[in-house]
Amino acid sequence: MQKINSLVEQWVRPEIRAISAYHVPEAAGLVKLDAMENPYVWPEALRAEWLEVLRRVDVNRYPHPKAPQLKLALRQTMAIPEHAGVVLGNGSDELIQMLAMTVGGPDRVILSLEPSFVMYRMIATFTGMRYVGVALRAADFSLDAGALLQAVEREQPALIFIAYPNNPTANLFDQGALLRLLDAAPGLVVIDEAYAAFTDASFMSRLGQHPNLLVMRTLSKMGLAGLRLGLLAGPEPWISQIDKTRLPYNIGVLTQVSADFALRHKPLLDEQTRAIRQARDGLFSALAALSGVSPYPSQANFILCRLPRGRALAVHEGLRQQGVLVKNLHGSHPLLQECLRITVGTEAENKRLLDALRGLL
Ligand SMILES: *Cc1c(COP(=O)(O)O)cnc(C)c1O
Repeated sequence: MQKINSLVEQWVRPEIRAISAYHVPEAAGLVKLDAMENPYVWPEALRAEWLEVLRRVDVNRYPHPKAPQLKLALRQTMAIPEHAGVVLGNGSDELIQMLAMTVGGPDRVILSLEPSFVMYRMIATFTGMRYVGVALRAADFSLDAGALLQAVEREQPALIFIAYPNNPTANLFDQGALLRLLDAAPGLVVIDEAYAAFTDASFMSRLGQHPNLLVMRTLSKMGLAGLRLGLLAGPEPWISQIDKTRLPYNIGVLTQVSADFALRHKPLLDEQTRAIRQARDGLFSALAALSGVSPYPSQANFILCRLPRGRALAVHEGLRQQGVLVKNLHGSHPLLQECLRITVGTEAENKRLLDALRGLL
């Protein structure tokens, strides 16, 4: 054991040893409101139809390396401009990694906002890039455009990630400020639209109007988290370079066929998404009415809440003991003190959460 540990010490990069692994808590038996999943399952008849499609798949063969049929379905359902190129990832996490590998290097910078999606920083570390975070405004997590443009000027980032709406704060950023960012950025600006299904705002129709704009989407938050499928759209000269860093056959045949099937039933996904948006507004009002809970307005399928000083950890644990799992953010970033992130569930799940919260506060 001593020997193994000293070998690990000798060979594993210090920046890898220094970070802790992405933590996923055990959720068996709990009402799962921690990971922005769609709470609705498919009706039995649709499942049967899906299994019929899977029955015809030959798993002895490699999947199609470029998944043209699935890409076509994605182009149609996501209104991707015809002139744009598209590359698929095993979740958008993999696309973030491919982007970093494409433009990375020891003196190259990934810049993002803080607090935001933690994978931007983690992947900068994995790929040996330097990470720069620009703080959002403490009062409402809005964009400090002056600070952002200054940091861009100073750091000359190769890659800028903007989650729009942002995770974990659930807000959109000022569009005019982002357009100025596109003009000022020396390198790529990736608008990460993981929550596109829950807002009407998007940069998708602007693709091609800026030489450095890419738009990233995922099927995860709209009801297909288990499939692991993300996409990156943008000018073909960028996409064809990024595509070179993609591992061959990164999208398995079961994912290709299942995602294509799901997109052919997009009205069902849309109906679920609409229900989530509606439930979000009800949950927000109910949370705001609880004394001691301050929810922040949401354009996504989750709500960030701040609790009174010293309460977040105990409330998080109390909820878990009552069978409801939410995400604790206290301790993850200075601007997120006493914050919990609650994914919008079904009406029944939201009620369970609210009842448990009332008991705890
Ligand atoms: C959840 C999330 C993703 C990751 O999506 P996957 O496709 O499941 O990897 C990307 N960006 C943001 C901002 C997210 O919140």
